[in-house]
Amino acid sequence: INNLAISFKSFSGRVRALRGVTIDVVRGKTIAIVGESGSGKSVTVKTIMRILSKNEKIESGSIVFNNKRDNEIVPIDLLKLSNKHMQREIKGKKIAMIFQDPMTSLDPTMKIGKQILEAIFAHKKIKLKAAVEQVHQLLETVGIKNIKAVMNAYPYQLSGGMRQRIVIAIAISCEPDLLICDEPTTALDVTIQSKILDLIKKIQKARNLSVIFITHDLGVVSRIADQVYVMYAGKIVEYGTCNDIFYDPRHPYTWGLLESTP
Ligand code: ATP
Ligand code: MG
Repeated sequence: INNLAISFKSFSGRVRALRGVTIDVVRGKTIAIVGESGSGKSVTVKTIMRILSKNEKIESGSIVFNNKRDNEIVPIDLLKLSNKHMQREIKGKKIAMIFQDPMTSLDPTMKIGKQILEAIFAHKKIKLKAAVEQVHQLLETVGIKNIKAVMNAYPYQLSGGMRQRIVIAIAISCEPDLLICDEPTTALDVTIQSKILDLIKKIQKARNLSVIFITHDLGVVSRIADQVYVMYAGKIVEYGTCNDIFYDPRHPYTWGLLESTP
């Protein structure tokens, strides 16, 4: 991801959301993007998705994904698309995305089993029986015990942590190379947070996934990231390993970020 720039029209004029963001995501590794609210973390990943899903252009920059280059413009208002819509857009792109609120990825009116089935059928043509078999496997992978009952449940009947597990199952159903997580544990309580983190880590290892993990929680970063990118006002101000960022930070903004972490 090279020198990405994007701006928005807003009520107060033009907002430059990204000012030349360069990020390297290595196969099988996890990078974390940290930074305060409004620094441009979500816009970064949404822009990546838009570029990879449509042949449109950004203001500057390029993306190389699986050795294929994309450097086209993203029409700004398309960034307002809903999460669900975006997940549909990137079908077949070997990229999956998980958001803070699992309900933005789930259909409240459809049983879990059917939602996972649909996700599978969206990517491959297989017989129903084989697909149901895969639903079972996926649910097992994300640590669900009472598989039959969960398949027959509606999202509202599950806890937040369970819902996020379902979203992860759907995300990996397309066998992605890259998994983008935008604050996937922020809305969960601490013990569940930790379990979901472990699950993402386990899946990442087992499938050799590349992961982009957005969070404002530096505790989470130290548990999951190989490389950390610190974002401030639409720019990457500093990056390095967890050790670099935690014990030898160079940028004043990073000092502040570390100081404000308990
Ligand atoms: P948070 O931690 O709160 O999620 P963030 O780092 O993800 O913050 P972004 O959502 O990426 O922040 O926003 C970066 C900047 O772009 C902000 O100034 C935001 O107001 C602006 N912005 C984001 N989306 C739009 C949009 N669709 N239209 C106009 N401005 C936007
Ligand atoms: Mg965000």
